[in-house]
Amino acid sequence: MAGFSLFVRNGLALLDGQSPHTPVRADILISDGVITAIGGEAKTMADARPDIAVLDAAGRLVTPGFINAHYHSHDTLAKGLLEQKPLETWRLLALPPQYPKRSREEIKARTLLGALECLRSGMTTVQDMVTLYPFDEEHLDAVLEAYDEIGLRAVVALQYADIKGIETIPFWKEVFPKELHGQLSTAAEPDARIDQLAYFEDTFLKTPSRFERISWALGPSAPERCTSKLVERTVRLSETYNLPIFTHIYESKGMALQARLEYPEHGGSLIRRLQAEGLLGPRLNLAHSVWLQDQEIALLAETGTNVVINPLSNMKLKSGIPPILELERAGVSLALGCDNCSCSDAQNIFQAMKLFGLMAHISDAHDQTPQAEAAYAAATTGGAHAVNRDADLGRIRPGARGDLVLFDLSDPSYVPLNSAVRQIVYTEGGRGVHTVVVDGRVVIDGGRLATMDQDRLLEQIMAVVPQFRSDYEAIERRVEKLRPYLDEAHRRIWAANVGGNRLFTGH
Ligand SMILES: [Zn+2]
Repeated sequence: MAGFSLFVRNGLALLDGQSPHTPVRADILISDGVITAIGGEAKTMADARPDIAVLDAAGRLVTPGFINAHYHSHDTLAKGLLEQKPLETWRLLALPPQYPKRSREEIKARTLLGALECLRSGMTTVQDMVTLYPFDEEHLDAVLEAYDEIGLRAVVALQYADIKGIETIPFWKEVFPKELHGQLSTAAEPDARIDQLAYFEDTFLKTPSRFERISWALGPSAPERCTSKLVERTVRLSETYNLPIFTHIYESKGMALQARLEYPEHGGSLIRRLQAEGLLGPRLNLAHSVWLQDQEIALLAETGTNVVINPLSNMKLKSGIPPILELERAGVSLALGCDNCSCSDAQNIFQAMKLFGLMAHISDAHDQTPQAEAAYAAATTGGAHAVNRDADLGRIRPGARGDLVLFDLSDPSYVPLNSAVRQIVYTEGGRGVHTVVVDGRVVIDGGRLATMDQDRLLEQIMAVVPQFRSDYEAIERRVEKLRPYLDEAHRRIWAANVGGNRLFTGH
């Protein structure tokens, strides 16, 4: 694949295989999107190419681009609208199945907005598990165009399901009067008009991607929303095209309880169900995994299945604290995500890394394992592993793609520079991100978008906001009427015993 060429001169870099606490001065040469040389060799080669673009990185800390391994572009316009809503209620307010069909313009604008926020936070790759409901080919084209135009690397998966949401949430069917059942939905609903997976395979998987920086993944919404038949199709596609799979597992207590009730033949375990269906393995990524049990963690480690931790949404939606330490001790590969804009509410990898570290700290009084390196690894190499790109993402080394972040070392976050990795994880909030390079191309320069007219882009986004806000307000009014039933279902879920507790340890 082609890319851009750039000579990044004089920065202090965190190189693959070296201490992330102490950066080293290193020139980096990117040729056609690939890092081809580092150090003295890079300078010699660059000197022989007088036409090459030069990026002066003096006074900058240079790291690999970060990877947002769990994200949904479908609700970027809903940031800041919601608070104190547990997961199952939040879905009704924020997720596509509740909304009238969107315009192509809105889909493109919202995708660009999320991409811009990711880039400004130093993320150069995003795994977008997008729900397009009702599905429309044009809408998927708009998503792909947006990533292509802005220059963010994207691993795109459609989020799909073939079981109705109401069948998958404990107590809903009995608590809600029958006439309200039609108003209930979850992250993805069956869409009988089109076979999304067949369309996706025929249109995108069978031919090489026509977009330089876009690759594909599969997004079965959650096992309890997918029949075994759909899981089988997912396994087949993943094997045929070597695609990573992303799904939601045990995000909330309700999802753990549903597994206990629904799968007695698998000991009430979604993980054992997935094992029986052949889905576990290095290509599978389980987003959230808050309510995993010890034996399930052992099974993930045994099979090389990965977990994507989403600290921001897990706390905001009252889902709980994921078992980070237990997963680390078992040797499960961890990645990091910023999840939905409507519940995180930020695409900010620094917030996510910091909370990852802090949640691990608070999980065990006696544990003394430093967590900054683990959080940083989850956001770089762990993310690369999740998207099946160990070889060329998440590291600065020859052969890797030229995806870099340059931090301003004069920002107070780095004065004095005691440990690069701890200050990136615990001190940086995003303010220090100065330049972002994707595939050898400067995409963010001095904190501003360099690939598109940022002011015009913001105007395009603002043009679709009034329609979105008016639809959101109508939905909010509708959901308000459902509240007594939603609250009652939650009371029952929280009173149930699922074995173990990840939440509400006080009163
Ligand atoms: Zn998600």
